Amino acid sequence: MGSESNMVHSPMVTYASMLSLLTLCPPFVILLWYTMVHADGSVLQTFDYLRQHGLQGFRDIWPKPTATAWKIIACYAAFEAALQLWLPGKRVVGPISPTGNQPVYKANGVAAYAVTLITYLGLWWFGIFNPTIVYDHLGEIFSALIFGSFIFCILLYIKGLVAPSSTDSGSSGNIIIDFYWGMELYPRIGKNFDIKVFTNCRFGMMSWAVLAVTYCIKQYETYGKVSDSMLVNTMLMLVYVTKFFWWEAGYWNTMDIAHDRAGFYICWGCLVWVPSVYTSPGMYLVNHPVDLGMQLALYILVAGILCIYINYDCDRQRQEFRRTNGKALVWGKAPSKIHAEYTTTSGETKSSLLLTSGWWGLSRHFHYVPEISAAFFWTLPALFNHILPYFYVVFLTILLFDRAKRDDDRCRSKYGKYWKLYCEKVPYRIIPGIY
Ligand code: NDP
Repeated sequence: MGSESNMVHSPMVTYASMLSLLTLCPPFVILLWYTMVHADGSVLQTFDYLRQHGLQGFRDIWPKPTATAWKIIACYAAFEAALQLWLPGKRVVGPISPTGNQPVYKANGVAAYAVTLITYLGLWWFGIFNPTIVYDHLGEIFSALIFGSFIFCILLYIKGLVAPSSTDSGSSGNIIIDFYWGMELYPRIGKNFDIKVFTNCRFGMMSWAVLAVTYCIKQYETYGKVSDSMLVNTMLMLVYVTKFFWWEAGYWNTMDIAHDRAGFYICWGCLVWVPSVYTSPGMYLVNHPVDLGMQLALYILVAGILCIYINYDCDRQRQEFRRTNGKALVWGKAPSKIHAEYTTTSGETKSSLLLTSGWWGLSRHFHYVPEISAAFFWTLPALFNHILPYFYVVFLTILLFDRAKRDDDRCRSKYGKYWKLYCEKVPYRIIPGIY
């Protein structure tokens, strides 16, 4: 039998990866924005500019976080926090944590998502606020997010140190790892305001939908129409984010929430990396209105929706299987499964079910295949004139291959011989027959 430790930090978290994220990511976000918005999406053009102007040139293109940028961020964050706190929703419990806690949530994500998009479009429609202002201040907004999120992560570290919300917290003894990986698994303000739900879902994922709509409106206001490439991109991203909020309570059972602590790694990622990098194919399309033609546009749209559906169905299948204690049919048949046991940090023996049929019988992380393919399909409308719009697809592939390994390592140490049995039954990690 294996054991589940109250992991203070992941073995994958090396100083090298910490330092690269801490130092390389913020400049990358700015260079990505600059290239998409001011250098025609051409990496070569940006590279040429930097070669000619050096470090001073880089300083010149880094926008200062203006008052307008801070105001936009503050209004958006306050609005989302208010919706999270006050919109009604069903009571949902998360998985039991390594120290035996079970977080309780209010599942009001779909309502928050609908209210956000309706309000945003309403503000535009009635001439109260024009979303093109967001696009026109995008560099300043990203710049403000870079600095603001850094301060937010410092506050989160201090909170974990002096006022942790639960026993799922603690220090590794190394301040840099604690800052990077986080002090708390479930930090909260008061009893009800869950900080990770706010950063990951209501700020990060919501900003993806809001920015996708912003890019569409900007293209419409600039060119007088929205190209079919932009429409396909926006629709696929919105289907994806809608799926996310539809399944948000399920997300609270995933690694991001149930295993990864609230530190720089995840919070900065959700507050800065998601709004900038995840939305970047749409950012590129604003000034590159490609006409795909009805047939190609439809093919890409259908292929993308299919991938999003399969990804959703993989997650649904696993969670339905666990929720019904292995009783739900999988692809019309009784599921094949492993009864696994593990010990918690307090020494208690617990059991879990591992599904070994359906999507989870094809490979141990098959759900990452449609996830990556969907990202490819919403980028495809940009065609292949520039490589940069595909950055997210490449990044996601690396992220998910690393995540699959991280998750396998964690499950191996949690379930021991039972995980070994699963690996014998389902030998491939991600791509059936290949890897
Ligand atoms: P999940 O948390 O959904 O799945 C992994 C966990 O499920 C394991 O830690 C284990 O947890 C349990 N598990 C593993 N194998 C089985 C099995 N055979 N039967 C039952 N339970 C099992 O993974 P992710 O958080 O990585 O993914 C969730 C979703 O988020 C996916 O759709 C993914 O594509 C998406 N995602 C998107 C990202 C993006 O940036 N776009 C990044 C990461 C994920 P336990 O300890 O409970 O046994």
